[in-house]
Amino acid sequence: MTMDTLVRGDDDKTQRLVALAATLGAQNFAPRAARYDREASFPTENYRDLRDAGFLGLCVPERHGGLGADYRTYCLVAAELGRHCGATALTFNMHVCTALWTGALADDLKMTAAQRASHETRRAAHFRRMVEDGAIFSQPFSEGGAAAAGKAPFGTIATKVDGGYRINGKKIFASLAGSADYYGVLCTEDKPTLRQTDTLYLAVPATAAGVAVVGDWDPLGMRGTVSRNLVFTDVFVPDDAELMPRGVYFQAAMRWPHMFLTLAPTYMGLAQAAYDFTVRYLRGEQPGTPPVKRRMYPTKQIAVAEMHVKLEQTRALFERVIGEARVDPDKAARLRAYAAQYTIMENANEIARLALRTCGGQAMLKSLALERIYRDSRCGSLMLPWTAELCLDRLGREALYEAGETDDS
Ligand SMILES: Cc1cc2nc3c(=O)[nH]c(=O)nc-3n(C[C@H](O)[C@H](O)[C@H](O)COP(=O)(O)OP(=O)(O)OC[C@H]3O[C@@H](n4cnc5c(N)ncnc54)[C@H](O)[C@@H]3O)c2cc1C
Repeated sequence: MTMDTLVRGDDDKTQRLVALAATLGAQNFAPRAARYDREASFPTENYRDLRDAGFLGLCVPERHGGLGADYRTYCLVAAELGRHCGATALTFNMHVCTALWTGALADDLKMTAAQRASHETRRAAHFRRMVEDGAIFSQPFSEGGAAAAGKAPFGTIATKVDGGYRINGKKIFASLAGSADYYGVLCTEDKPTLRQTDTLYLAVPATAAGVAVVGDWDPLGMRGTVSRNLVFTDVFVPDDAELMPRGVYFQAAMRWPHMFLTLAPTYMGLAQAAYDFTVRYLRGEQPGTPPVKRRMYPTKQIAVAEMHVKLEQTRALFERVIGEARVDPDKAARLRAYAAQYTIMENANEIARLALRTCGGQAMLKSLALERIYRDSRCGSLMLPWTAELCLDRLGREALYEAGETDDS
């Protein structure tokens, strides 16, 4: 098994973290992936390894005891993990992005001096939980309506009460349900008119009274994410549960669009994994299969060449956009981010499909990883707010209209 990493980082720290992710992924996560998939169980052992490696603090700033990885480094690490266990990489995204958004991303956003001061105190406590207590955070946003697509206020309501908020509502597809220590819940503040600008982002302890994990989890792919539903009934959280000050999440969504691109690295890793599998298989080197070579057939060579072209196209866009993430990107960078998300999510599944067709029937047996990679790769295009459909929707509209333009006379 080669330890070649997907993309070489350009500084020592990035290289070291990506190499560590590659080692953890190949040695620890890959051998466990089939079991989590079969059982649809959460990769608890992998999280123990991530904690021991300090990765629960990956994007926690160094002055708060974390590893201080930036956006790009996180994306490269996540892609490495995705090569070996999609469900671990996808759920790790929810945890790490909580730190990234609360940390480096929030530093780019406008806040009053009072908001900045209270945010500094509150995030220090959240970071301490991640770094010192090994607490895992998740991001249950989806509700089954238009809110997670960014088109309506969240239906989960936070009512201001003495010393905090009382939360009521339901989240669907809550990855890490039952395994996270804190659910980073997006709610709308209870006012006569519900508005997106009143979105609150609150860390709800999993043990808080009124939190319930409900429903089954038996999906096609990404089974180890255990994305069951969460119900919040009169759940009280104190004011310092805020992960961002009131209104700042909405500002982030408007001004830092690459925050929604962070699911894509997992699928970049899956695309690479499908390609790697194919090369090993055709060379007769795939563990668990007889050492039969199939590489001498021209049809196989052409198929691998096509997969390689598609993989390089995908990776080129991936590498470019993860270096462009910043506050208020220009229009070209914003549109490229949508194009990259669409490309990575769709091509991951397309490359996995080509891998199965090229390797043949024996390669789709559940004893081999390709069958799982194929199913996992199908899920990327479905993830809100940037589903493949909504990326096209945004791209078409924003390419043809400048902000504020309409055709109304
Ligand atoms: C493996 C997995 C893990 C997940 N983990 C999480 C998680 O941790 N946290 C979380 O919050 N969510 C998570 N999700 C949920 C995901 O982000 C979506 O919310 C979910 O897949 C949407 O499913 P739905 O059928 O309710 O979509 P619907 O809302 O019914 O939408 C169906 C499709 O219609 C399109 N669409 C939706 N709204 C609009 C609109 N307003 N205009 C035009 N088109 C629209 C989109 O393309 C969408 O894919 C996860 C999903 C999967 C598959």
